Amino acid sequence: MAADCIFCKIAAGEIPAEKIYEDDKILAFLDLKPSSRGHALVIHKFHTADFASTPDGILNEIVPAVKRIAAGIMKATGAAGFNLTTNNGPAAGQVVFHLHFHIIPRYAGDGLKLFPQHESEKSKRQMLAEEIKKNLA
Ligand code: 5GP
Ligand code: ZN
Repeated sequence: MAADCIFCKIAAGEIPAEKIYEDDKILAFLDLKPSSRGHALVIHKFHTADFASTPDGILNEIVPAVKRIAAGIMKATGAAGFNLTTNNGPAAGQVVFHLHFHIIPRYAGDGLKLFPQHESEKSKRQMLAEEIKKNLA
């Protein structure tokens, strides 16, 4: 447990939340400010700041739980789909530095636009793809 971490405090029961799933390692609860009905957050009780700094062993435990919880949310809400996101770092909008996955249920015609897109040039995409490939460990 990390001192002053809101999500560690929720996991410890020190801050209330509408919990929807809990076991010895995983906790899921409804987001305080939902993007859509049923918007939930899934955390591992082992504190890590963000996705990039989380050991693979922890990710291996949380991802199947996210899948199961998303299925339950879909059934309960009647959602037609869901977005699964994690904000990694302040530039990506992360404000709580305990890894969490957002499950955002989507409803037909809800008009939510989470990822604005723009056109790109093929030559620039190709150069960028090469640069990224070189930097992959
Ligand atoms: P992020 O760090 O990915 O930007 O998002 C943090 C999310 O946690 C936000 O969607 C915010 O509404 C939610 N959140 C922040 N504090 C609390 C809290 O105390 N309880 C609950 N249930 N959600 C919270
Ligand atoms: Zn924490």
